[in-house]
Amino acid sequence: MRVLFVASEAVPFAKTGGLADVIGALPRALMELGLEVRVLMPAYGPVKQGKIPLQVAAEDLEGRLGFQPLSFSVLAPAEGDHPFWFVERDEFFERSQLYGTPKGDYFDNLERFAFFCSTVPACCQAMGFRPEVIHCHDWQAALVPVYLRHRWRNTPLAHAKTLLTIHNLAYQGLFPKEKFPLLGLDWSLFTIDGLEFYDQINLLKGGIVFADAISTVSRGYSKEIQTPEFGYGLEGVLQSRAEALFGIVNGVDYRDWDPATDPLIPHHYTAEDLSGKVKNKMALMAAFNLDLRLANQPLFGIISRLADQKGFDLVAQVLPELMARDLPVVILGTGEEKYHRWLAQEAPKYPGKLGVKIAFDNALAHLIEAGADMFLMPSRYEPCGLNQLYSLKYGTVPVVRATGGLADTVAPVDVKQGTGTGFLFREYSAEAFIRAINEAVAAFRDRELWQKIMRNGMAQDWSWKASAREYLTLYERLLSG
Ligand code: ADP
Repeated sequence: MRVLFVASEAVPFAKTGGLADVIGALPRALMELGLEVRVLMPAYGPVKQGKIPLQVAAEDLEGRLGFQPLSFSVLAPAEGDHPFWFVERDEFFERSQLYGTPKGDYFDNLERFAFFCSTVPACCQAMGFRPEVIHCHDWQAALVPVYLRHRWRNTPLAHAKTLLTIHNLAYQGLFPKEKFPLLGLDWSLFTIDGLEFYDQINLLKGGIVFADAISTVSRGYSKEIQTPEFGYGLEGVLQSRAEALFGIVNGVDYRDWDPATDPLIPHHYTAEDLSGKVKNKMALMAAFNLDLRLANQPLFGIISRLADQKGFDLVAQVLPELMARDLPVVILGTGEEKYHRWLAQEAPKYPGKLGVKIAFDNALAHLIEAGADMFLMPSRYEPCGLNQLYSLKYGTVPVVRATGGLADTVAPVDVKQGTGTGFLFREYSAEAFIRAINEAVAAFRDRELWQKIMRNGMAQDWSWKASAREYLTLYERLLSG
């Protein structure tokens, strides 16, 4: 089976969040099941200047913006066996960031990603690849199912089936209707049954309406988004497509995220021999200049995009109490400016107890997973969440809000039975959050119980294998339908 992924980011080339981890790992897991997979993504500045050298695989190809032809090249890795193709058109993609700066999105994101989607037919033709399934990810690729139905009916792609995976429904690709002509679609598609959404263009909605199937990255989230609380205005459209809407949980690429082999951490460890974890804790505390006299206290870690979704208002509310109780916290994040300012303000107030780094730093993310005792993730909503899965593998007990993928993947601890993998709270409030933290701290003081909880998590297998099989089943269903 031949599958083309169309996505806007992928490890190890360019990453802003969990989508990149998925696109970096799932194609390979599918290839291990015998599928032929290729991934199409933009050739951003950091991709072209990255560690993996690229070479031109095809040039003078034709994409479109509106009805206007625009040329592009396809780049491919010059070494290794990466199944990637990159769309090169510097006017759109030769920038330092993927979607915008902390001040806001790039003004021409509609143009950039409409053009990106338009390159699929020419790219497939030039590369001699005829996909049976086109697997599109998030709003940046959501025009592909629309184009397939309306613009590409006379191309060799016409019979391909489309799957749209929604990694985060809050990001829909909303643009002013004045830009509609840039999509190269008939105005008749700008209706409530098409891409119109409260008088704006909604690219994700177009994908939801026209894809053959839709999926989200956990079963829980696939149900939640059909309700007004999580649907961001698209709950009705999603309900109307409920029979074609699936939930498949993300996996972990344990080649990158395994404390027994992780090249980015100073001390390796396993469930049998946890001694390396304590050493990593010391290294982590030193990296953040934390007071080593607090080493017997549980160390809390946070690695996150700094966005409202991730529950930073709850973190802000519980932080003074954690600090007052000498419970050290390290936070690694980047994102919205208001949170940058807040963290820059807080950090100097608690020297030796609060470690903050405002950056995107993969190596430090690995050290935090390895060195922290607990991982905090009080998300308002969470389509899947990856850090809690990494935390499980690293024996870093997650304290999470019971929502979406977090509720699907973290099993509540039962202290009497010694079962479960983490601590959950349901109500979105500082009180509920602190209660869960307190339970975790109490369990931490019981060394035997704590090691049991750590090992319960470390023993779990959230590798891509099972989820890749589920995607395969879904592709097969599409092709037989
Ligand atoms: P989301 O996709 O909503 O940001 P996920 O938990 O699904 O959240 O995935 C986030 C991914 O990005 C994880 O791999 C996490 O380690 C990584 N990440 C997030 N922020 C940072 C950061 N500041 N530095 C390094 N890695 C980060």
